[in-house]
Amino acid sequence: MHQIRLKLGLTSNRAGTTVFGIFAVLFMVFGLAGVFEPVETFPQIMRDRIRSVDASGDVVLVAVDNRSLSVGDPYPWPRSNYATIISSLDAAGANVIAIEIDLSGATSALEDDSLAVAIEKTKAKVFLEHRFSLDVSDRVDNFFPLPKFTKSAQLVNTNVLRDYDGSVRKAPYGVKVQGTIIPSLASVVSGNYRLEDSFFPIDYGINMSSIPTISAVDVLNDRWSPQSVKGKTVVIAGTASKEFSTHIAPGNSFIPKTMINIAAAETLMRGQPITLGSVPIMLLGIFAGGIHLLAKNRKLALTSVLSFSAIVILAPILMESYNVRVQIIPGAALVLVSFALRWFVAIKNQIFNSSRTDIESGLKNMTAIETTMISGVCGVAAFKCSNIDYVEHYLKDRVGEAYRAFSRAMEFVGAETYHGGHGIVVGVFPNLVNIQLDDTVEGLQKILRTIHVDSKPIDIIGTVGISDASGLSIKEKARLAIIASGQAAQNGEVFFRFEQSTAEKVDEEVSLSSRMETAISNRECEMYLQPKFKLSDQSLIGAEALLRWTHPEHGPMNPGELVVHAEKYGRIWDITKFGFEETSRFLSQLDVVCSDLVLSVNLSAKLLSRRDLPEMIIEIISQYGIEPQQFMLEVTETAALSTGDMSLQVLKRLKFAGFALSIDDYGTGSATMDYLKKVPATELKIDQSFVSQMEKSKSDAAMVRSTIQLAESLNMAVVAEGIERKSTVDMLRELGCYGGQGYYFSKPMNLSDAAQYIEGSYRNRATG
Ligand code: C2E
Ligand code: MG
Ligand code: MG
Repeated sequence: MHQIRLKLGLTSNRAGTTVFGIFAVLFMVFGLAGVFEPVETFPQIMRDRIRSVDASGDVVLVAVDNRSLSVGDPYPWPRSNYATIISSLDAAGANVIAIEIDLSGATSALEDDSLAVAIEKTKAKVFLEHRFSLDVSDRVDNFFPLPKFTKSAQLVNTNVLRDYDGSVRKAPYGVKVQGTIIPSLASVVSGNYRLEDSFFPIDYGINMSSIPTISAVDVLNDRWSPQSVKGKTVVIAGTASKEFSTHIAPGNSFIPKTMINIAAAETLMRGQPITLGSVPIMLLGIFAGGIHLLAKNRKLALTSVLSFSAIVILAPILMESYNVRVQIIPGAALVLVSFALRWFVAIKNQIFNSSRTDIESGLKNMTAIETTMISGVCGVAAFKCSNIDYVEHYLKDRVGEAYRAFSRAMEFVGAETYHGGHGIVVGVFPNLVNIQLDDTVEGLQKILRTIHVDSKPIDIIGTVGISDASGLSIKEKARLAIIASGQAAQNGEVFFRFEQSTAEKVDEEVSLSSRMETAISNRECEMYLQPKFKLSDQSLIGAEALLRWTHPEHGPMNPGELVVHAEKYGRIWDITKFGFEETSRFLSQLDVVCSDLVLSVNLSAKLLSRRDLPEMIIEIISQYGIEPQQFMLEVTETAALSTGDMSLQVLKRLKFAGFALSIDDYGTGSATMDYLKKVPATELKIDQSFVSQMEKSKSDAAMVRSTIQLAESLNMAVVAEGIERKSTVDMLRELGCYGGQGYYFSKPMNLSDAAQYIEGSYRNRATG
C-alpha cells in the first residue's frame, strides 16, 4: 500500500483550525470580560427597533412638562401643587403613586405641610424619591425626602447608572444605603421586587411614546380624565427639558430620566430579565465556524454560516420578547474569522496549486512532484514525444489536449501523472519496478503511437525513459527518467532504463567538472611536452604540449576524455589558458637560445567560435616575452571542418598574428581539398591510427602516401604522429614525410625533463 501525503504547509485546514481555535479562546475571554459590549449596542438598537412593543399602560406618567411650567407656576413648583395632584390621583383611584421629584430640602412650612398632609391622607401607596450623587472623589451625597413626608410613604431610589459612554443600559433592583437596601423605582412600580443591589438590562424595545402621559398642569387644573389612572400606578416626575435631568438611552438619544425609570419598570413587569451573556452564541459560533472552515463541501460550509446568521439575527429578537438576553458579537466575530480563514486558505491554495500546475495542459507540474511523496517501492517513467513541435504546430493552442492524452494513457496503466517539460509527461508507478515496469511501458508506448483530438488521428513518435533505482527521491527518479527518455531517442530505441551505474556516472561527471575548476589552482594539472623531429636528420624541430591531470582519487586521467569533458562543462577556456601560460613560462626559462623551437599547442574546436581567443593567447605569451612565431596551434581536422565562418576568421587572425597552424588527426575526418585550401595551415599531422598500421595495412600505407603527396601539392609540411618503431621512421622517410613524433623518439615528458632534453639537444647542436 502506498500512502499519498500532502505537504501543504500553512495552506492546510489544520493550520486554519489552529488559528480559529486561538481566536475562539481569545473571543471567549474577551466576551466574558465584556470587551465587546460597546459593539453589542448596535445590533441591540436594531433589534429594539424591529421588536418595538408598546408599554403595558399600567404605569401612567404625570409629567411636569414644559407646558406645565409655562401654563402653570414656574419651576420649582410649590409643594402644594404636588399635594393637589396627589389628592386628585388618589381620588381618581390610582393604586400606587411614586413621586420622582426632589423633596429633600425644606421650602415654606405652609407648602411643605400641605404636601405632608396630602401624603398622609392618601389611600394609595406612596413612594418618594431617594437619590444620591457622587462627587469627583466618589463621595456619596444622599438626598432623602423631608422626614415629615415619609411618615406614611416609602422610599424608592431613582438613580440611573450611566455607562462609560454616558448611555444608560442597566437599572438597579435596589441600592444599598447605610446598610439597608432601598428598592429602585422600577422595582417598586413593577411590583417585581428583588431586594438586592444588582442591575438588570433595560428593554428599550418598549416604545417610550406608548407610555400613557398626562400633563401635571392638567391634573392640577382638573382638565383630565380621572378614569385614566384608576387602578394604575402613577409616576409624578419632571420632563421639562431645561429643569429636569435627561439621559441617553441607546437608540433614543436624550430622554427624561423618568422615562428610563418607567422603561426599566416596564422591563421588570414583563418578567425577570435573564442575561445569558456571550457564551451560548459563542458556542454556536465555534460549531458553525468550525464546520464552515473544515467542510470540504462548499454548500455545507455556506449552509452552516447562513444558518448561524439566521439564528444570530432572529433568536435574540425572540428571546428578548421573553426578557432573555444574549450577546452575539463574540460568536459572530468568530464566524467572521472562520470566513476570513477559509478565504485566506482558499487564496493560498489557489496560489499553491497554480504554481504546481501546468497552465497549458492542466496537469500537475514537476514542482508538484515534490509534494507527493509516495513512499515505498515505485518506478518512474517519462514519455517523451519527439515530434511535439509538429503536434504543437498542428494543434496550436490546443496542444494541452495532446498532453492530456499522454496523461490518460499513463493513468490507464496505473500511473500518477505530471507535466515533465516540453513534450514530456512523467508517470509515477507505485509498486512497479523492473520487468513489470518494462512491460507496462512497452504497452504504453504502443498505446501512444496515435492519439485522437476531435476524432482526428495524430501520429506520435515517442520514447519512454525509466528510472526505478532504489534510494532515490521521486523527483530525482523523474529527472533521470526524463534524461533516459532522451537517451532512448538518441539510441533509436523504444525505451531506455536509467540504471544506478549510469546515475553514478552522471554524478561523477558533474563532480569531476567542478573538481576541474580547482585542479588548475591546486597544481594537480600539468603540461607535458613530446618532442617532434625532422625525419631526414632526426633533428629536434619542436614539441607538442599535452595536458596531464592526476586526480587525487582517480589517479591519472585520460587527456582525450578530459578534453571532451572540459568542452562539455565549459572548462576548456581555462585549460587552454593554462596550457599557454605553462608553455610560455617554459620557453622564457630555457637556458639556451632556441628561437627556432616551435611548441605545438592543441586548440579545442569549441574555442574557435570565440572571437577573443587570439587576444587571450597573445596577452598570455607576451607577458612572458614570447613571440607567436614560437607556437604552432593544432586544430583537429574534424573540428576545423564542423566550424563555420567564424572559426575560419579566428584562424586567419591567429595566422596573421604570426602563429603557425596545424591540422591534427588528419585522415579521421573528411576534409576536402577545397577545405584544406581555405584553412591557412602550414602543417598536416597524419593521425596515429594510420601511422601505427601503415606497415601492415596497405590501405593505411596508401592513405599516408596520398596525404604526403597532397601536402606537398598544397605546400604544407607533413608530420606523422604515433611513431613507435624505427621501421616506421624508415618507411615514412622513404615516402618523403617531413616530420615525426612518437614513443620511438620520446614519450611526452614533464616540463623539467623536457627542459633538460631540449637544452641538451641545443647544446649538442652548438658543439656538434
Ligand atoms: P593529439 O593532439 O593527437 O596528441 C597526440 C596524442 O598521441 C597524445 O595523447 C600523445 O600522448 C599520443 N602519442 C604520441 N606518441 C604516441 C605513440 O607513439 N604511441 C601512442 N599510442 N600514442 C602516442 P594524449 O596526450 O593522451 O592526448 C590525447 C588528445 O587529447 C590529444 O591528441 C589532443 O587532442 C588532446 N589534448 C591533449 N592535451 C590537450 C590540451 O592541452 N588542449 C587540448 N585542446 N587538447 C589536448
Ligand atoms: Mg595534437
Ligand atoms: Mg593527433
